[in-house]
Amino acid sequence: MCKLCTIAVSATGVGLSLSSGFTPLADLANTTKSTESPFQQLGQLDTLSTTLAAVKLPTVKEPTWLTDKKAAEAAAARQVPAAASRLAGKRVVTYDVTTKGAINASLAEFKQQASATLNDGRGWSRMGVSFQEVASGGQFTLVLSEASQVPSFSPGGCGAEYSCRAGRYVIINQDRWVGATTSWNSAGGSLRDYRHMVVNHETGHWLGHGHSNCTGAGQPAQVMQQQSISLQGCTFNACN
Ligand SMILES: [Zn+2]
Repeated sequence: MCKLCTIAVSATGVGLSLSSGFTPLADLANTTKSTESPFQQLGQLDTLSTTLAAVKLPTVKEPTWLTDKKAAEAAAARQVPAAASRLAGKRVVTYDVTTKGAINASLAEFKQQASATLNDGRGWSRMGVSFQEVASGGQFTLVLSEASQVPSFSPGGCGAEYSCRAGRYVIINQDRWVGATTSWNSAGGSLRDYRHMVVNHETGHWLGHGHSNCTGAGQPAQVMQQQSISLQGCTFNACN
């Protein structure tokens, strides 16, 4: 049970215990009318108000999940200008596709599925843009990279285990593209959904978005959460 619920229950408990020993107003009036003057009754009211003033309400500490949620929302709000500036005045975002290192996965399938993800109505195209692959000179470069070559895009910034974004490069790690991750697979996630997630996530970095955290146990993870590393109690989610 959450803290707020506990407080509500205990407050009700106090209310009930007070009620059980409470003298009905009519009875109080009858007992005081014959023995006390109106001034004495006013004195009792003063005592009552002093007592009420002395009652201290418990301090309710903001729950951690709410603090985290507010921080995530504030961070998301700060990221909007960065994303918006990339897309300012644009209806079409262009990108070119290349490979790095030894590639055994189908490049044609990579191109087709990445385009489908980027233009899926549940992804970044909701910002009112479409993504168009061009032969060269796109606004960003989508790379299918041999795992061991991913760090070459940003030594210290990109590792060989996961996908990455470095400058204009949105780099998809071939090992993840082909096999997702152990945690994703053991949770029953499909390879296609992992591919949606990783393309949306790394493109999200290029758009200016940082990482986000799980907003609550059992909630679908945000696409900018590092779902390949930890779900933080959330469920896998391939879209935004
Ligand atoms: Zn990331």
